[in-house]
Amino acid sequence: MADRKAALIIVAAGHGTRLRGAPKQYRPLLGKPVLSHLMARAASISAIGPIITVTHPDHAAFYGEALAASGLKDDRAFRAPGGETRQASVRNGLELLAAAEFPADGIVLVHDAARPFLSELVVLRAILAAQAGGAAMPVLPVVDTVAEIDAAGGLAGNPDRAKLRVVQTPQSFRFGPILAAHRAMAENGRFDFTDDAGLMLANGQRVATFEGDDSLFKITLEADLARARMHLGAPEPLVRTGLGYDVHAFTDGDHVTLGGVAIPHERALLGHSDADPLMHAITDALLGTIGDGDIGQHFPPSDPRWKGAPSRLFLENARARVESRGGRILNVDGTLICEAPKVGPHRAAIAAAIGTVLGLPPEAVGVKATTNEKLGFAGRREGIAAMAVATVLFSG
Ligand code: MG
Repeated sequence: MADRKAALIIVAAGHGTRLRGAPKQYRPLLGKPVLSHLMARAASISAIGPIITVTHPDHAAFYGEALAASGLKDDRAFRAPGGETRQASVRNGLELLAAAEFPADGIVLVHDAARPFLSELVVLRAILAAQAGGAAMPVLPVVDTVAEIDAAGGLAGNPDRAKLRVVQTPQSFRFGPILAAHRAMAENGRFDFTDDAGLMLANGQRVATFEGDDSLFKITLEADLARARMHLGAPEPLVRTGLGYDVHAFTDGDHVTLGGVAIPHERALLGHSDADPLMHAITDALLGTIGDGDIGQHFPPSDPRWKGAPSRLFLENARARVESRGGRILNVDGTLICEAPKVGPHRAAIAAAIGTVLGLPPEAVGVKATTNEKLGFAGRREGIAAMAVATVLFSG
């Protein structure tokens, strides 16, 4: 791998996360791990030769998945083991290059895995700056006022922001000096550097700056993932609402099923399935969020399969349809309209039954009931009606 192209070390060994799920560099971003977006971009930049990814020893499977999704060829991709600190991880990447006899006057770029949007322009700036001065880092101006605070959190002063910069990666170095600096700092027992430019400065070397890029933002929080999706041209998250309504007439019997809960009553509800008006209304509300017809279309009363069927099946089906289109159900809210039975004592059980089917916590399932003030069919105790709304988030 010793050639005149720059080497790229991707520091991906972190295992902490402020995001839900996998470590941030492996979180899915439009169906691919964040790291694989970076690898694919790096692979397409002709000034970059070998790509060394430093990963946590436990992350072999994550790395393999990211590499496969990136399309990066095996002959350019190398993996080095992560160390106890970021500094130790970078050192391991540098030692791998040293073992492969990467030339001392070659250029090495050190880049954070959580900054996937590496551009050719930034890489060229980085290489030119390191060729000119030996060490360089990309910076952005500080746009906000910066405050220094005292021990009690009070304002101690405002540093002159004209002299301040926000530091990004890739930081760029001639290989010999950065390797020597890392080895020297480790020999001196110093392992506390959070970036390589700082380490070079402490080793007595001037570090130049070059213009960074807004697109090199670091993905740390959920909001950064949303920004990354937008950066890739994904549609903005969208919330859709659906409406459902259902009625079943009373017939002879000894219980009714409302929201999946059998409630003793002097009458039953007439219907081909278990005649649960609340679950039917919520099913229609969910189908409404994706414009996918209604319950009668998907589960026709003429179909013998649905005779006596628990309405949970219809609700499960609606959830699957919503999720197959990238939707995540945020909440459902339903109202039962009947003079009797009393719904109040069963409210929690109904909410739990619906929440179980839809994977929703109790606060995301509204269950309400009202009489119809003796007016109309519900008021005359001829049947029970239900209305429902559902909201679904489509993340694009
Ligand atoms: Mg119905």
